[in-house]
Amino acid sequence: MKLSFHGADRDVTGSCHRIELAGLQLLVDCGMFQGGRELDAENAEPLGFNASRIDAVLLTHAHLDHCGRLPLLVKAGFRGEIICTAPTAELTRIVLNDSARIAEEDAARTSRRRGGAGAVKPLYTREDVEDVLKRFGRVVGYNESIALGEGVTASFHDAGHILGSASVLLQVEEGGRRRRLLLSGDIGNRGRPILRDPAPPKADIVLMETTYGDRQHRSVQASVDELIEAIDATLKRHGNVVIPSFALERTQEILYYLREATESGRLPRNLPVFLDSPMAVSTVEVYRRYPEFFDENARAVLANGSDPFGMPGLRMTREHEDSMGINRIEGGAVIIAGSGMCTGGRVRHHLRHNLGHDRSAVIFVGFAARGTLARQIIDGARYVQLFGEQVPVRAHIHTINGFSAHADQSELLAWHAAAGGRERTILVHGEESVMAGFASLLGDVPVSMPEPGSELVL
Ligand SMILES: [Zn+2]
Repeated sequence: MKLSFHGADRDVTGSCHRIELAGLQLLVDCGMFQGGRELDAENAEPLGFNASRIDAVLLTHAHLDHCGRLPLLVKAGFRGEIICTAPTAELTRIVLNDSARIAEEDAARTSRRRGGAGAVKPLYTREDVEDVLKRFGRVVGYNESIALGEGVTASFHDAGHILGSASVLLQVEEGGRRRRLLLSGDIGNRGRPILRDPAPPKADIVLMETTYGDRQHRSVQASVDELIEAIDATLKRHGNVVIPSFALERTQEILYYLREATESGRLPRNLPVFLDSPMAVSTVEVYRRYPEFFDENARAVLANGSDPFGMPGLRMTREHEDSMGINRIEGGAVIIAGSGMCTGGRVRHHLRHNLGHDRSAVIFVGFAARGTLARQIIDGARYVQLFGEQVPVRAHIHTINGFSAHADQSELLAWHAAAGGRERTILVHGEESVMAGFASLLGDVPVSMPEPGSELVL
């Protein structure tokens, strides 16, 4: 078999791996490069392989850095089948449409600014996304095996990362020899709410992510306590809490914790909570449709007749006018809005209205890539640029890292020990120094850290 690497190699976004085996060409993920605007150009570059030759895409999960270049793949001639779990199929539709909408709006804005100098085309449009949705074929449950071709099967195994996320196991019979190749996708952080813990199968060859291969997370409970205390302190100062959050997974987790805290009395029962993100609202609806993907605790909440993501003071705002209305609230509210890295979306309005007040707080609950507004604020910027204005940063800034949806070093090691990977372990989806450090912890297992665009014959 031959593997080639077209993204997330010695870096953390743009996951895309091509596997040639038994006469098939398969892709596991086709994600977008994310971070600063300079990566737009990288996304627009040729994929590095002939898209029309790809037989199937096995999609691990719906995060943009794993599915975001699917429209480009289809535009480049891919006519095969996209295979994934049912929640991944639904969430990918939401994620891609959101990404296309942002690209369309950005292109329209740039075109207006350039005046007569020529229109700018978006990377892809919502029409292109429609073409992707037509390529979705079989949906698979966890641990189900499906045939891809002569002697080749695939199965999806719970990765515990976001709803429906999976590691993909390919089994191939080649020259009378059976081999198992496991591609991790993103590996979840154990002990988080809603989802079950990752459960990798055994494999000879393992390709795995190493995003947090160099660090240990604080316990989830310590992070929940920090969140609740930060909100409580802000309410006592009569300020607002702004939580920039990824619409997918992190927002549902935060709602889950807020529901628990309002039920237990740690926060006021009728605490006004605004979920100001049409995409997050749609995502909550998908979550509600797939309780069979929840862990035991979340199912117990449902069995008790409660909504895991609901509370009396929660208002979900889809409409723009309702969103603008939130800007008039001087204090006492929790506002959850995207985007998580503050590169776009409604959160930028809420930051503009709240960053300048020392009674308010901004709580970062997720990863912030270099070059993003979130990272600038986290790194202590005293002023930031918003809507052409210099906005002073006077609000209390909290960064809570323990909510990570990614496994930390010891969890990655445990995952690897369970999966095996004794024939070869391939490290991807991590910054270079992190991967090298992680590799040194794997003992005598042969390790590869492929360069982007390189090939590996096994
Ligand atoms: Zn992910």
